[in-house]
Amino acid sequence: MKYNYLIVGAGLYGAVFAREAVSHGKSCLVIDKRPHIAGNVYTEDVEGIHVHKYGAHIFHTNDQQVWDYVQHFASFNRFTNSPVANYHGELYSLPFNMYTFNKMWGVITPEEAAAKIEEQRAAAGITEPRNLEEQAISLVGTDIYEKLIKGYTQKQWGRECRDLPAFIIKRLPVRLTFDNNYFNALYQGIPNGGYTRMVENILEGIPVELNADYLQNRSAWNEIAEKIVYTGPIDAFFDFSLGTLEYRSIRFETELLDIPNYQGNAVVNYTDAETPWTRILEHKWFAFGKDDAGDDLPKTVISREFSAEWKPGDEPYYPVNDKRNGELYQQYKALADSETDVIFGGRLGEYKYYDMDQVIAAALNSADRYIS
Ligand code: UDP
Repeated sequence: MKYNYLIVGAGLYGAVFAREAVSHGKSCLVIDKRPHIAGNVYTEDVEGIHVHKYGAHIFHTNDQQVWDYVQHFASFNRFTNSPVANYHGELYSLPFNMYTFNKMWGVITPEEAAAKIEEQRAAAGITEPRNLEEQAISLVGTDIYEKLIKGYTQKQWGRECRDLPAFIIKRLPVRLTFDNNYFNALYQGIPNGGYTRMVENILEGIPVELNADYLQNRSAWNEIAEKIVYTGPIDAFFDFSLGTLEYRSIRFETELLDIPNYQGNAVVNYTDAETPWTRILEHKWFAFGKDDAGDDLPKTVISREFSAEWKPGDEPYYPVNDKRNGELYQQYKALADSETDVIFGGRLGEYKYYDMDQVIAAALNSADRYIS
């Protein structure tokens, strides 16, 4: 055997695991079926703009260990995510905060906002929220649910809000302050130089083979390493033998425009049900501190994001964490647990709606656990 570990997938999980293995004196080969490293955090340079090729990635964490860890591989700008919601041309601040409540209801004080939410929650008769719709109404009331959550969520997930788990909407803070920071995180930013550069640094000195599909040639790959770290979809690993897990996929329509500023913000969410895209990213605004970039960069790159049900051949993005998929995943997990030479990790390997910092923490944990 040539390597201690064959790492399938050059995204954050695979790269961090590989780095840890190598620093413990192990040998690794990282392979990826795509023609590039960095998985879905891959950024591509277009006219000097780092384009988030697989959607917006804003690094944020409360985990000191993870924050300290990533500092070894990148410096971070001080970008703070403050998306804007566009509902049929009405603009609202996100996450839900005093600016949102003021625009929606004309309320001025936190007390008035809280009273309005409570009034709408009580009128809807919700005591114990059992799904995303009830959770949303109980957090922010029916008006905000109708204008800023319902249409967006149905487009994003392709399912009714009442058929989705409550936890998804709890990702968003609700604040009775004038604070547009989307994340409740101690640390936040975008790597200067882009995510691809950061992952390149994590993988420095580690052999990587691109355009290499593990599942297409599994037995040959298995022969070259003692253990496999697999970060692809868990159901694909088992040839979908128990059935297919559902994923949401995203299609991007990206355009280079000859204007300096298209929408004045990195992310604008289109929260009505009729607009076919969920959001538009304007990539240059992720590079914090270039507010007058129009002067030196008269162009801009935007991506419209269209959400769709995953089908074979598409890129899987989001696991759909409803009951059926949760149960099916548990069955696959039992199969995975009996594979003594394979470690499953990452958003697809663990079928989990992970943020980047959680992926890194999980990779560090399993490196700790498995690498002796
Ligand atoms: N969401 C919403 N309206 C918005 C933004 C988010 O209803 O304008 C809901 C939607 O259900 C979404 C969830 O909140 O799936 C989580 O949003 P987040 O921004 O965390 O999603 P991600 O960036 O991971 O796609």
